Amino acid sequence: MIILIKRIISFVIFVLIGLVFYKKVIKGENIFFSRGKKQESESNSNVEKMEKDPVCGTYILEKTSLKLKSEGTMYHFCSDKCREEYISRLKK
Ligand SMILES: [Zn+2]
Repeated sequence: MIILIKRIISFVIFVLIGLVFYKKVIKGENIFFSRGKKQESESNSNVEKMEKDPVCGTYILEKTSLKLKSEGTMYHFCSDKCREEYISRLKK
């Protein structure tokens, strides 16, 4: 009977130590994963950069915007209308 109790106690201690290690590993992984996600979102925000339309003033995603390079500067437009408007302004 005493041996059985000792075995149960040692088993409980073993499980508790295992749980603590398990939690530490999970927490460590979570920190690692959240860091990875942060880096991903940072690189995503670089890809999905917002640019201002110089004609109507709205912000559009750089990758979906219409682009016009003028005098070494890249301009971004929300639509063909704005781009044509800007080109006609340049011609004047
Ligand atoms: Zn526009």
